Amino acid sequence: MKAPAALAALLLVCAAVPAAAQGTHPRPEETEVWKPVPAVVTPGRTDLGAPSDAIVLFDGKDESQWVSADDHTPADWDVHDGVLTVSKKAGNIETKRSFTNYQIHLEWKVPSGITGSGQARGNSGLFLASTGPGDDGYEIQILDSYKNSTYVNGQAAAIYKQYPPLVNAMRPPGEWNVYDVVWTAPTFNADGSLKSPAYVTAFQNGVLVQDHVALLGPTLYIGKPHYAPHGPEPIKLQAHGDPSAPISFRNIWVRVLPDTAQAHMP
Ligand code: MG
Repeated sequence: MKAPAALAALLLVCAAVPAAAQGTHPRPEETEVWKPVPAVVTPGRTDLGAPSDAIVLFDGKDESQWVSADDHTPADWDVHDGVLTVSKKAGNIETKRSFTNYQIHLEWKVPSGITGSGQARGNSGLFLASTGPGDDGYEIQILDSYKNSTYVNGQAAAIYKQYPPLVNAMRPPGEWNVYDVVWTAPTFNADGSLKSPAYVTAFQNGVLVQDHVALLGPTLYIGKPHYAPHGPEPIKLQAHGDPSAPISFRNIWVRVLPDTAQAHMP
């Protein structure tokens, strides 16, 4: 075998060996999906106030429902003119209350004049259950995905690195986006094994973007998701460390849902 042919054969063998067997660390790129790109849909009007049975998590006045996700001290984001804006310095915040199954409404805005690209452009996130400090939990992505491409399972309304959104229903920077999300928490057997996975149904600006998808576990930046048992958890908002200008929130409310739906028949 001539030298170039031997080298080619060696390279083929190396390519067939999984990364783990080569002793290398898993990389974030290994769980990115880039195609197909969700179709762009221009949303209609959305104007939804809190219904009478909702728990209001942000009414435009204060952060009294929220604490730092890291040390549970009072939340220290910026509240101005009825709007809650991320403080990257203060880090992630989460609700004082814990929840199991619920419906949440949340409005978010990427500032006009935002700079950056890919994941470094208006990145935040709604963690539907915060299972620990930092970014532990189940994230539906918040990002400026208006004419800003990235891996599709990491664009806005993706279940991060698990499910791309069905379509791209983004409004441009400077306009409010609306999430309405139904979260069904996972359940676990007494031995800690998974009984039923978490489910998410989500609308962005009134457009269905996640249709009762079964999550594979908490959302991870690197590696394959897997479940670990947990109970009711707080809802968390992400202060992502990218250098682009911080995004804002308003009008956040939640409706607690029963654990199980019962059929009613005559
Ligand atoms: Mg994020």
